Parts: sequence; structure tokens; C-alpha cells
Amino acid sequence: SDSHFPVPISPSHVDYSLCYPQLFPPSKQVGNSKKIQFADIGCGFGGLLISLSTLFPETLMIGMELRDKVTEYVKERILALRVANPGQYNNVSVVRTNSMKYIPNYFEKGQLSKMFFLFPDPHFKEKNHRRRVISPHLLDEYAYALGVGGIMYTITDVEELGEWMKACLEGHPMFEALTDEELEADLVVKLLSTATEEGQKVARNGGQTFRAVYRRIVPTI
Ligand code: SAM
Repeated sequence: SDSHFPVPISPSHVDYSLCYPQLFPPSKQVGNSKKIQFADIGCGFGGLLISLSTLFPETLMIGMELRDKVTEYVKERILALRVANPGQYNNVSVVRTNSMKYIPNYFEKGQLSKMFFLFPDPHFKEKNHRRRVISPHLLDEYAYALGVGGIMYTITDVEELGEWMKACLEGHPMFEALTDEELEADLVVKLLSTATEEGQKVARNGGQTFRAVYRRIVPTI
């Protein structure tokens, strides 16, 4: 249950020295105002974060994962990469948490520039749709955490879920779809289907994927 993992009472209580010890040693805490900018929601085994870490070495990023053992695995994976590659992978971290409940505890208004929802659990039955990580209600929270211009990346191999995520985003006043040219120009889009463990599994099996990539905008009234 939730009682097994600590939850920061507000974004200012997130312990950056625990997540990024090399960048936030006790002596440097004061004056370092850098904040987490990318969040990988339901990061699984962390493949996307590992790829993004070296692509955006100056950006702090975090994975949020509900399963305890999977989170521990990602922690170990990051630690091993830091040891093997001195000076690298210091900007990436993972926390065990329920992202459907605690996003506002981790991120201030407008703090994030990218959020990732890669191959989320489908929850097929209608009565379970409320458990989906993308819903009209949760999009309000994601819109709050994302700065204007920030991007939501979603992908799935389940067509029905892909349509659902797209419909939720399309129906929300604070998101607009990236154009084909913008998708083409965005390096990160290519990673969506190749960098995560789930994406690689789908690719190995020759499965189709369904993508929806949207920008946080200021709604026009
Ligand atoms: N994104 C990864 C990938 O593409 O390989 C993992 C995909 S996996 C199918 C979905 C992940 O979301 C699982 O690791 C699951 O534990 C996690 N998850 C499900 N609900 C969650 C929640 N409420 N908060 C955080 N993680 C969650």
C-alpha cells in the first residue's frame, strides 16, 4: 500500500540530494535552484530515462514507478551506470510512487517541460477506465505541472488505449497536437518506440504503435 513509500508534502520537500547526490551535495544545496524538468510516468525498467540522460546532460529527469522491485532495479541500474561512466548519469533518478495520486507533491506549477507516458497499462474494461494514467481529470494535473510549451508524449500498442489518450488530449483546452513537421524535427519522438523495454518488445513482435504528442498551451477563451 501507499504507506510503504514516503511522499514529500510539497515540491519543495523533494530531497534532491537523495535523487542527484553528485549535483546536490550538502555543501552545494544552497543556491542550486535547478529543478526536475522531465518526468517519465510509469517508467518501468528505465530505458527511456537512460537514453535521455546523455542526450540532455544538463536536464534533471525522474522516473515515477509504482512497483517496488522495478524501482529498486532502476536505482541499481543508474548507480551502475554512474560508476562505469564517471561524470555521466548524475541527472537521472527514480522514485517509487503512485503517479496518479502524487504528481502535485513532486512538481510545482509549470515546472516540467516534458512528460512521458510510454506503453501505460491498458485497463481494458470500461469500469477500469478511471485507472488509466491519462484521463480528463488527470490531464488537468499534468497541465498544471507542465510549463506553457511543455510536451506530453504518449505511445501504446493497444489501439483502443491510443484512441482514448488522443481523445482525452484533443478534448482538453490546454493541449494541442504537434504538427507532422514538429514530430519529425523532435529527436525525442524517435525514442518513444525504441528506448523502453516495452517498446522494444512490441517492435520485436512486429506490433503496431499508436502515438499522441501534445503541447501545453494557454487556452484561448
Ligand atoms: N514505460 C515503460 C516502458 O515503456 O517499458 C513501462 C511500461 S509498463 C507496461 C507500465 C508501468 O507503469 C509498469 O511498470 C507499472 O508498474 C507502472 N505503473 C502503473 N500504474 C502506475 C502508477 N499509478 N504510478 C506509477 N507507475 C505506475
